[in-house]
Amino acid sequence: MIPQPSRCQPHQLIASLLLLLGLLFPSRTTAAEIEWTLQTRDPATGQIIVSKERVDPRRVGVVAVDVWNFHWCKTATMRVDAFVPRIDRALQAARDLGMTVMLCPSDVVDNYAGFPQRESVLALPDIQVPNAVDVTCPPVPDAGGCACGRERCAGNYGWDGMHPALRIGDSDLMPDTQAEVYALCQQRGLTHLLYVGFHTQVCLLGKPMGLRAMKAAGLRCVLARDMTDAHPGYDPARGFTPDLNTEQVIAHFEKHLAPTVQLQDELTRLGRWDTQHPVDPVRIAPWGTRMRPHLFEQPITVTLTAPLQPGAEIRYTLDGSAPGPRSSLYTTPLVITNTTHLRTMAFRDGRPAGLESEGSFARLIPAPPKPDVFIGDLTPVRSVGFGHTYGGTVRYSGTTQAPQKDKANTGKPLRVDRRKPDHGLGVHAPCAVAYPIQPDYARFVAYAGMDENLVDLNNGSNLAKYPSGVFKVFIDGKEVAVSPVMRILSPAWRFDIPIPKGAKVLTLVAMDAGDGSREDLADWADAGFVRSR
Ligand SMILES: [Zn+2]
Repeated sequence: MIPQPSRCQPHQLIASLLLLLGLLFPSRTTAAEIEWTLQTRDPATGQIIVSKERVDPRRVGVVAVDVWNFHWCKTATMRVDAFVPRIDRALQAARDLGMTVMLCPSDVVDNYAGFPQRESVLALPDIQVPNAVDVTCPPVPDAGGCACGRERCAGNYGWDGMHPALRIGDSDLMPDTQAEVYALCQQRGLTHLLYVGFHTQVCLLGKPMGLRAMKAAGLRCVLARDMTDAHPGYDPARGFTPDLNTEQVIAHFEKHLAPTVQLQDELTRLGRWDTQHPVDPVRIAPWGTRMRPHLFEQPITVTLTAPLQPGAEIRYTLDGSAPGPRSSLYTTPLVITNTTHLRTMAFRDGRPAGLESEGSFARLIPAPPKPDVFIGDLTPVRSVGFGHTYGGTVRYSGTTQAPQKDKANTGKPLRVDRRKPDHGLGVHAPCAVAYPIQPDYARFVAYAGMDENLVDLNNGSNLAKYPSGVFKVFIDGKEVAVSPVMRILSPAWRFDIPIPKGAKVLTLVAMDAGDGSREDLADWADAGFVRSR
């Protein structure tokens, strides 16, 4: 092949010309710079102060803190879920602008061992982090972290990674400490860190790679106020909602800690936000879902909000139908008194202004009485479980065993409903146990839920998101009662079922909830028959 003489292409000519012009007429900013609008507040009066700042996006790192796949509070989990589409879109725009994206799932970053995004960070040189700024501020308001109202979620460390819908870019990095972020900033010449993620006043602020530590190291830290959610709280009796909580926390940041930007607005101005396809679902408090329902005893107050869709109408249905522009208009919190499935969506001018969201609320029946005959004292006519059945014998698989009398399936004491019942049956879903019904059995009663022993090991670290099951009761082959999906550390589901005259066999079934049977240890507590009097 004959080499062609090198020729100057037209685009090279233009580039050279632009370079020459730049040298002759140096401007205050480079072509790559963007201007963003920062918001702070007067610490004394709270008055908003707006300013503009020019910044080269190649000097900006976007730090996404704790965009986890689970949280011990179901409402907090769903609020993260609600933010992920907008954060994912913003991170893609940031990459396109030349910003460095840092994904920081604290506590669980080691689960990303082998990802180049993590391994390359570990290879960075050790750099002494300067103590450049003394960061002090009054205590940040913390509402407690459960946004479910009266029926509060119990703590566990169930998360094991980032939200699955948050894309990991090839060029992204996963630092976990102040020193790692600092080393990255030095290596790449980053001067600004733009924070997105959760929970604003706890992890985003206080984690080792969080805003406080990096501000102290001398980085210019900015909070994206439309891409963060506070460690939430909810008290509808005094009008305190998770959104109001977040607003208060953001105002605290603006007064004492860092300027904020409305990132969606900035990206829209830069032509990097798709305004045609909305990303925000209506937010629900408390936020139970089909896979993690909100269980309640007393009527609950449900609040719907769409703070990022100003001017939109929130419409909802309670009959299972899809919400439309003519569905009920939400104007004031809903009082839910019975098991309800809510569907909701925001509309503007009759067109969808967001994504649909669902709320599942299941009311518990009053506490059933203690049985006269415990099922553990009866001999089942059939007992099957997870394994291979050969010649009528179940070969239980893995850590699964035959149902255990008065013990969890692992052999530990039964632990469900946040208590340790003396009597019951510990099984591993899927499992069915059938008992003969005696003529004087009038009712079957039980508390059913996922066994809680898991939380003894590092507070359920990485595993507490897995236990999930559905409990069913059959009489003579006919389903007579079914629980919603049960999760660890939720109240137990209550069964109190009349036995029809002449009934012969009652079967207790614990099924996997449709997401696999990992860790699905299920307890039938205080389960048995009440005799007719
Ligand atoms: Zn909660």
